[in-house]
Amino acid sequence: MNLFRLTTPLCIMCIGTTAGSESENSPSVSNKPAWGYGAENGPAVWGRLSGEYALCAEGSRQSPVDLRNPRPANLPAITFNYRPTPLNIHNNGHTIEVASTGENWLEVGSEKYSLAQYHFHAPSEHTVEGNSFDMEMHLVHRNREGVLAVIGVLIQRGNEHVALNQVRKHLPATRGEIKSVEGVSVNPLDLLPRNRRAYRYAGSLTTPPCTEDVNWIVMATPIELSAAQIAAFKAVVHKNNRPVQALNGREILMDIGKEE
Ligand SMILES: [Zn+2]
Repeated sequence: MNLFRLTTPLCIMCIGTTAGSESENSPSVSNKPAWGYGAENGPAVWGRLSGEYALCAEGSRQSPVDLRNPRPANLPAITFNYRPTPLNIHNNGHTIEVASTGENWLEVGSEKYSLAQYHFHAPSEHTVEGNSFDMEMHLVHRNREGVLAVIGVLIQRGNEHVALNQVRKHLPATRGEIKSVEGVSVNPLDLLPRNRRAYRYAGSLTTPPCTEDVNWIVMATPIELSAAQIAAFKAVVHKNNRPVQALNGREILMDIGKEE
């Protein structure tokens, strides 16, 4: 895979910024076109809003995709090195983003990626055999060269989720609002399903500028949130999903021998 190097912050939603700092993509300070999910600024027209967003229309390795018929493969092992992290939540107008203020990282084989932030989409962006889920969480990581690895976690209705309840309780309802919560930590490890089998494929950011060469790792097993929790998230983050994109010959892989 070509290595994509980040030279500038690209996307407040997909590239972590230090929580609390103003991003160049903030609506109030941005000189870039405001993208969103409405008729005038939504996924269908992202590619036309700016030359910088051209890949959204012209890219051939875009995300999300419909996940089906994965080819079993012997893939580099994934190791999660996450720890309890003080809660800092930002409503950036596109999503709810939780900053990784601590030392959290992911190893894919021998490659180390630092967790920058995680955020939420509703409904899910990836689908599985055509089926959509209530929500999807993206944990965005970046290695030293700027290559991205994103862990996708599908969310379905079920039991209440204890760890995500901390996020739910402190959801910033207003665009631009940041909540730094004293004395409350969440370990991102508690946000993952127990079974870590995952779809893997090469894709892109799912928001402008739709940069490609993102290593996608989407957990095959969804996690559960209660109906009330999902409703609370959807009251703040809703219809912020990009539709699935064409595979264009890309293969979807799944690790073998990792079932628990
Ligand atoms: Zn995302």
